[in-house]
Amino acid sequence: MTILNKPFDTQYNTAPFSKLKTEEFLSAFKTAIKKAKSEIDTIVNNKEKPTFQNTIEALDYSGEELDRISSIFFNLNSAETNDEIQKIAQEVSPLLSEFSNDIALNEDLFNRVKSVFDSKSDLKLNTEQATLLDKKYKSFARNGANLPEDKKERLRAIDKELSQLKLKFGEHILAETNKFEMHLTHIDNLDGLPEGAKEAAKQLAESKGRKGWLITLDYPSYIPFMTHAKSRSLRKKLSKAFGSKGFKSDELDNKAIVLKISNLRYERAQLLGYQTHAHFVLEERMAESPVKVNHFLEDLLEKAKPAAIKEFKKLQDFAKEFDGIDQLQKWDSAYYSEKLKQKLFDLDDEKLKPYFKLENVIEGAFTVANKLFGLEFNEMDTIDKYHKDVMTYKVEDADGELVSIFYADFFPRAGKRNGAWMTSFKPQMIKNGTNERPHVSIVCNFTKPTKSKPSLLTFNEVTTLFHEFGHALHGMLANTTYPSLSGTSVYWDFVELPSQILENWCYEEETLKLFAKHYKTDQVIPMELIEKIKKSANFNEGMQTLRQLSFGMLDMAWHGVDPSEIKDIKTYELKAFGETQLYPDVKANCMSTAFAHIFQGGYSSGYYSYKWAEVLDADAFEYFKEEGIFNKTVANKFKTYVLSQGGTENPMTLYKKFRGQEPKPEALLRRAGLIK
Ligand SMILES: [Zn+2]
Repeated sequence: MTILNKPFDTQYNTAPFSKLKTEEFLSAFKTAIKKAKSEIDTIVNNKEKPTFQNTIEALDYSGEELDRISSIFFNLNSAETNDEIQKIAQEVSPLLSEFSNDIALNEDLFNRVKSVFDSKSDLKLNTEQATLLDKKYKSFARNGANLPEDKKERLRAIDKELSQLKLKFGEHILAETNKFEMHLTHIDNLDGLPEGAKEAAKQLAESKGRKGWLITLDYPSYIPFMTHAKSRSLRKKLSKAFGSKGFKSDELDNKAIVLKISNLRYERAQLLGYQTHAHFVLEERMAESPVKVNHFLEDLLEKAKPAAIKEFKKLQDFAKEFDGIDQLQKWDSAYYSEKLKQKLFDLDDEKLKPYFKLENVIEGAFTVANKLFGLEFNEMDTIDKYHKDVMTYKVEDADGELVSIFYADFFPRAGKRNGAWMTSFKPQMIKNGTNERPHVSIVCNFTKPTKSKPSLLTFNEVTTLFHEFGHALHGMLANTTYPSLSGTSVYWDFVELPSQILENWCYEEETLKLFAKHYKTDQVIPMELIEKIKKSANFNEGMQTLRQLSFGMLDMAWHGVDPSEIKDIKTYELKAFGETQLYPDVKANCMSTAFAHIFQGGYSSGYYSYKWAEVLDADAFEYFKEEGIFNKTVANKFKTYVLSQGGTENPMTLYKKFRGQEPKPEALLRRAGLIK
């Protein structure tokens, strides 16, 4: 037995990183899976009749050791990986999915869960228990546990076919992306591009043994070209190549796959007793139903469209004046937007960065958490960590009670993946009468300090830090009984509320005075710079909103109907876009055949949630603005009804308890300057 299979003999039971041996993980996993299996067997073989405690609760507390090892291992695989860890991940992943399939298909276990579920009304459960019972029951039912054998078989066949089709869809897009290259042989063709982008294009050509410059459909190559390249005809060529992925009726075409996927999803939903795939998905979302999502999207469209039309006209006039363009096309959008933005706001990162020294920003986030929720962060040097750059803190409440252990890992390294995220090493739960506090972590990739210069963040990095810190607060302040309902384990379209709302504090003078001080002179950032940041963040927000809405509407059009009658994808798509389009259509282009979010990734019937989360955070922050951004009463309500509750209750109910009413889109539209 490895050190991982025993309770950790450390202060606060934190993970003993320095003592972990990579080669021990595989056997630790195997031991923990065996243990988790036997815990399930104990539940199933219990001679007593199924009760909430001996079945539902026991199921939720089972597998604790496996969860702990998984958290540690997969967090390392994201933040400090190497070949050995990656190899173990390859070996362990099938074992883990086999284990969770075994549970999902365990009929005896389901029968016990169902028996408790069927007697629900007699059980006198509290809200959290009732939610847990629903969740456990649905995790089986939504995978077909209630179906007769022949339909179960059909369901499994559909799932298998769907996973192959999604894979194929993605492979086609990737192959399309890799196949295309725009080979440029005259430096004039790159006019307008920043030096870095020119250099990258040259290096790419060199790496393929070519002369000149190569532009591809990969974002780091595509985006700078569309934003800065003077040549309208080359932008057109590149844009058309980008927009016609999977739509050329060749061996990489995705039209048939799109139809097949949406029809199979529809059939699957019908088998399980749902009207459409969107009904199935939205059952477990705050938005609840396709009717509500469609109404949400249409309402926003109606309110944002007048501003979008004005912005479009302004951009059109600018392009006319600047270059004599009579009709703006899709390939002009990024280019003239950038030019107009430069003209309106002369803002660059270098001017802002000196005010955002990393240490000051961290202190700023801690001060905000202190003023709002009374939290105290104290750096600890006795907690074991997986890399020397990681910082560790003990978090206490105003009474000096332990709230959480907090890890922060800020700088890029070879073994760390890109981006920024929040995660945890240990969940919060109340077990055997003890409130076990969580171990929460945020991981980012900010510029490292040098000998002569501290780490100075761009404004975008500042909001990223606050965003992840907001997720972390959701984890740290968790106060629920059951681990599967704790912290960030909430409906998918609710999880970004705590993170996005925290970003709002970064734009407030009252907050910035606390921490945005020049690293050399200690002078507070001038407010006119902040005003510029706000205005430029809202630049062309109306057009951006229409674009997001068009994707959400297309997603709902594919998943909220019976798709069997759809024959021509392009015609159907144009109809679905409805009133959202400002630019002339490009005949050779199609969005659906390259819409990986919904046909390959996990966003089907979920694209609306980007805007949904923005509406929530703007509406919630407006409440703070009304009462004062550090108002204790509002903060306390936010903590009591949102941050501490995890997924114990329907999020709309929780939100209404906090806000006193359902969220309205007006706050977002006001913040974005789209309405007065
Ligand atoms: Zn987030």
